[in-house]
Amino acid sequence: MTKEEEIPDWVGAQEFYEKYDPKEVLGRGVSSVVRRCINKRTAQDYAVKVIDITPSDKMTPPEIEEIREATVKEIDILKKVCGQDNIIQLKDCYESKAFFFLVFDLMKKGELFDYLTEKVTLSEKETRKIMRALLEVVRFLHNQNIVHRDLKPENILLDDEMNIKLTDFGFSVQLDQGQQLNEVCGTPGYLAPEIIECSMNPDHAGYGTAVDMWSSGVIMYTLLAGSPPFWHRKQMLMLRMILAGQYDFSSPDWADCSDTVKDLISRLLVVDPKKRYTADDALNHPFFSQYVVAEVRQFSPYRRFKVICMTVLATMRIYCNYRRAKPVTKEVIKSDPYAVKPIRKLIDACAFKIYGHWVKKGQTQNRAALFENTPKAILISLAAEAEESPLHTW
Ligand code: ADP
Ligand code: MG
Repeated sequence: MTKEEEIPDWVGAQEFYEKYDPKEVLGRGVSSVVRRCINKRTAQDYAVKVIDITPSDKMTPPEIEEIREATVKEIDILKKVCGQDNIIQLKDCYESKAFFFLVFDLMKKGELFDYLTEKVTLSEKETRKIMRALLEVVRFLHNQNIVHRDLKPENILLDDEMNIKLTDFGFSVQLDQGQQLNEVCGTPGYLAPEIIECSMNPDHAGYGTAVDMWSSGVIMYTLLAGSPPFWHRKQMLMLRMILAGQYDFSSPDWADCSDTVKDLISRLLVVDPKKRYTADDALNHPFFSQYVVAEVRQFSPYRRFKVICMTVLATMRIYCNYRRAKPVTKEVIKSDPYAVKPIRKLIDACAFKIYGHWVKKGQTQNRAALFENTPKAILISLAAEAEESPLHTW
C-alpha cells in the first residue's frame, strides 16, 4: 500500500480545522490566502497561509505540481531559518491533497508597506532601525547560502513593538557551493539588474545572493523618499532604468537626508553585483554607527565634553536657521506649496489617504505615480494601467 492510499486526502485539512478556527482575510497572493485564525484550545490568534492546490480550470496539473513543490521548499526553508528574531515563525503545518495550511505568529501591525503608506516617508532614525534588522536577517540567510529573492515592504511584517519580521519565503532557495541561478522571479521594481539580464540572455552566467542586497537598497530608498528609485509607467522603461542603475536623489525629501545615508544606498544600488555591498559591508557602514543613544550614556568624560560642544553648535545652527527662515505667507503657499515641507507632507498624506487603496500591490508599481503630483499625471497613469497587462510578482 502506498502512502497516498494509507492517508485520506482530507486528513491534513481536518487536523487543521479541529485545532483552529479560521477568521477574516489578512492578505492574498497568487495562489494563497492568509487569514487570521484562532487556536480553539488556547484562544490565541495566529495567521494561516492557505495554499490552494485543487485541480481547477484555472490551473493545469503541471502548474499545480509546481506550486506543491514550491510550497514544500518554502516549508523546508522556513524550518531552516526558524529562531532568528526578525524572521516569522512557522508554528504548525498541515498538508492535504487540495490545500496546505501554514500557521504563523500573527503580526497585528501588518505590512511595512501599509505603515509606509500611512507615514508617507520615514525618518533616518526609523529607517536605521528597520534596515539594521533587515540586513541582519539577510546576513543570517546569506551565511547559509539562502537567497530570499522577494524582499519588499509587502513581505516585511511588523510585530506589536514595531520590530520587523521577514516573511514569504516562497521564492527562497538554498544554493549549493558556487551555484548560480538563472530563473527570473521576484517583483519588477525590486529586481536586480542581473536577474533582468538573465531574462534577456540565455547564456548569462547567472545570479546569486547579491540580488537581495539590491532589493534592500530599493527598500531603503523607498522608506526615506516614499517613492521607489526605479519607476516608470511603462514597465519596459522601468526595467531599462534598473539595467542602467539610473536613479537619483532629486526629490525634495532628499534635501533633508544625510550624505551618509545616500552613500549607503548608492553602495547597494550598484549594477555590478561583484562591486555591490554585502550585508556585512552594509552593517559596517557609518550609517549604522551614528547617534546610538545607548552609546551616548556610556561616554567617557572626553566624549561627553565633545557631545556637549556638538550640542551647543547644533543649537546655534538651529537658532541661526530659525532667524533666517522666511515666513510662510499666503503668496508662498499659493505659488509653490510643494516647496514648504510641512505642506508637502500634508499634500502627500492626503494623496495617500485618497489613493492609498490604489497604490496597494497588485495594481502595478503606482506608489511613484502619487509623487508626480499633478492630477493629469495620475489620470495618465490610471489609463496606462488599464492598457497594460499587470505584471506583479513573477
Ligand atoms: P504570498 O506568497 O502569497 O505573497 P505572503 O506570505 O507574502 O504570501 O502573505 C501575503 C500577505 O498576507 C502578506 O503580505 C501580509 O499582508 C499577510 N500576512 C502574511 N503572513 C502574516 C502574518 N503572520 N501576520 C499578519 N499578516 C500576514
Ligand atoms: Mg508576499
